[in-house]
Order: sequence, then C-alpha cells, then structure tokens
Amino acid sequence: MFEKKTKLAIVVPCYNEELVIETTVVTLLSVLDDLVNKNKISSDSYLYLVDDGSKDRTWEIIEELHSKYKRVKGMKFVRNYGNQKALIAGLLGVKEFGCDCVLTIDADLQQDENSIEKFIDEFHNGAEIVSGIRNDRKTDTIFKKTTAFFFYKLMNLMGVKIPPNHSDFRLVSSKALGILEKFSESELFLRGFFHETGLKTAYVHFDVKPRAAGSSKFNFVSLTSLALNGITSYSIVPLRLISAIGLITVFVMACVGVDAVCDKLFRHEAPSGWATLVMLIIFLGGFQIFCLGIIGEYLGQIFSEVKARPRYITEKELL
Ligand code: UDP
Ligand code: MG
Repeated sequence: MFEKKTKLAIVVPCYNEELVIETTVVTLLSVLDDLVNKNKISSDSYLYLVDDGSKDRTWEIIEELHSKYKRVKGMKFVRNYGNQKALIAGLLGVKEFGCDCVLTIDADLQQDENSIEKFIDEFHNGAEIVSGIRNDRKTDTIFKKTTAFFFYKLMNLMGVKIPPNHSDFRLVSSKALGILEKFSESELFLRGFFHETGLKTAYVHFDVKPRAAGSSKFNFVSLTSLALNGITSYSIVPLRLISAIGLITVFVMACVGVDAVCDKLFRHEAPSGWATLVMLIIFLGGFQIFCLGIIGEYLGQIFSEVKARPRYITEKELL
C-alpha cells in the first residue's frame, strides 16, 4: 500500500506504574501487530519505555518484558525528573535508535489506544505533527477540569495559542525530532514547543478512559510547576503587563496626589481618608510582591537554563 513502510516508535513515560505497565505493553504490542498486518507500519516498529526513576518494581517489569519481547526497549533515569523530561528523553532516544515517526502515550493507557491508527493515517496524509485532543474531561476531578480550563485560557491570552484539551498523546515525524534535538533548553514545554515549530499539524480527537489502576502521578505542586513552566518558557507577556500596570498606577497615583495638594492649597481642606490610605498601601505592597514573584519565575528559568546542566541522567538502557 505504501512504498516504504513507516517505522513507528511508541514512547511511554513510566513513573511507579508497576500495576499497569505489563497490561499496557501487551495492549500496545497488539496495536503494533494490528497495524503491521494492515500494512500501515513496518514490522521493526517498537515500544520505548522510559522509567522516570520509579521507586516500585516498574523497571524490573520492563527488563522482564524486554527479555520476553524483542520489540520492547527502554531506559531508566537515575531519579525522578518529571513527565516532560521522560517524554523528551524518549523522543531523543528513539531519534538515535531510528524511526520514521514516534507516538507518545501515557503508561496508564487513559488515552484510547484504538485511535493510534488515526494518528498513523494523518501521518501518511502528510502531517508532521498529529496532536491528540481530548473529547471531554469526564475522567478528571473538578479541580483538574477548572485548572486546565484556566491554564489554556491564560496561555491563549499570553499569546501561546495552544488548542484547549491538548495532550501529550501526540505523533511526530523524524523531521520534528530533528528540530527538537536543536533545542537545548532544559525546561522545554513540549505542548508549546511542537505548536511553535509551525510544522504541518493534524488533530485527532480521542476518548479518555479512567486510570486502570494506581493513582495520578501529578499533584497540585507538579501541575502548578508545569503550568508556570509553560507560561514562562513561551511568553513574556506577564513581564510586559507588570510594566504597563506600573505605568498606569504611577499615572493614577499622580492624579490622586495632585488632587490632595489642591485640597490643601486651594480648598483649605485637610486631606482625609486614613482608611483609604492604609488600604492603598496594603494593596500596592501586595501587588509589588506579586510582581516580584512573576519576575522571580523568569529569573528562575534563566537560572536553571544558564547553568546548562544535563536535562536528566540515564542509568540504564535496553536496546
Ligand atoms: N509520569 C512520569 N513522571 C512523573 C509523573 C508522571 O513519567 O513524574 C508519567 C506517568 O507514569 C504516566 C504519565 O506521565 O505515564 C501521565 O501521568 P498520570 O497518568 O499520573 O497523569 P494524569 O493522567 O493524572 O494527568
Ligand atoms: Mg493518567
């Protein structure tokens, strides 16, 4: 059907996934077999599991699966570096090992594996990036639904036009991987990155299932850190807003000041409003600290980038 068959790599980031990893691998291998039988991918397509410093038996299970199925490859970090770095390591790992395109999917298979075929079809239709968009957020907690809603709204306001309900369930071509390799920043935010490359992108809508076992590896702190990283790596709008609000405040305060002086000089009224004054001081004090916090976020980004430490350290690789 296709002249040269596509070699597909599937990258799965895994952190403490001992309860689900084996079922996930078996399911994904059958998806690969099915696509090979349909002549859509080549028979040397494979899975690449990245163990993000799990503390449970995830890595031992990956080693067992590797000795059982030659299509299962993987690597292990020395410690936990977070899901974005596990994904980057997987993408760069398969780039080195070789593939025509790579799909990233979560280890809990919440993302519908049956839609992988649609990703491949879009790739064959010429897309360099195929992004998965969730049909709904039924399986998310109210907290996650609300924060995700505001995050995408905020990102759009900041000029980063990522489609809402975007996910890291994504297929990218080897050309996109070549671009990724050139970006050495350590805190790369993949959703922003692939969107910004400008490569031809297609979208696949998929259903989200509840997690089969285990619990979500994201908490309030890691989600906030991911969101802040997304904003500070792709937008300087918050910094500009600070300058704009600062200028407006100075102007308003100057008018209030002139009015107070006029009260004293011409209307012979002693300036009143102690309560207003206290509120203004508290408000401005709080606002200044908040602005310092925003600047601090950017400073933190510069701090970690300038040191140019390795993104992650690999302990083992199974090829
Ligand atoms: N994950 C990871 N490192 C982490 C946290 C998560 O590699 O520090 C992986 C996790 O094993 C899973 C994927 O990232 O494959 C998504 O995590 P999870 O399913 O817990 O997130 P949720 O679906 O709740 O957003
Ligand atoms: Mg999940």
